Amino acid sequence: MKIGVLSFQGGVKEHMDHIKSLGADAVEIKDCGQLDEIDGIILPGGESTTMGKLLEITKMMQPLREKILNGLPAWGTCAGMILLANSIEGSRRSYLSVIDISVRRNAYGRQIDSFCDYALIPEVSDFKIPLVFVRAPFITHLGDDVKRLCTIRENVVAARHNNILVTSFHPELTEDFKFHEYFLYMI
Ligand code: GLN
Repeated sequence: MKIGVLSFQGGVKEHMDHIKSLGADAVEIKDCGQLDEIDGIILPGGESTTMGKLLEITKMMQPLREKILNGLPAWGTCAGMILLANSIEGSRRSYLSVIDISVRRNAYGRQIDSFCDYALIPEVSDFKIPLVFVRAPFITHLGDDVKRLCTIRENVVAARHNNILVTSFHPELTEDFKFHEYFLYMI
């Protein structure tokens, strides 16, 4: 199994290392010619406005969007979740718009307000796993068909719709592999 990680900026290496530790191949994705080679794609954390601009500049936005709508499994962590969302609070624009959620950027405050919490997410693991939030968004609206996977401090921070997984937090920054295992299992 070959997993692509969108590699413009952000937490690319950490995702690649987790995927490789689980015995799958990981490749850096920088242009749309590579999209046919992969079985799933991870959109990492970083800065969503920068990654959104780079998706436009490299002309990847539309081909990637079509691939995901046609069933390519996709997982967005943090900024990656913002790129996948249908709507971004307070903004007139969205990016890939492939999952019916609204998100609030920087919803917990600034970098200094970053935190770690633990939660039991039955869909993903039988025991509590660490969740790392770094200038994280949360989900303010979930479409009817979108499954809520985790709520922290009364806000939805993980969800799934068919082939699309979104998390506000960063499993790749922990030593826990459950979310990466879950994504491979989805594929
Ligand atoms: N605050 C960033 C954004 O809005 C996301 C931060 C992250 O990915 N850790 O794009």
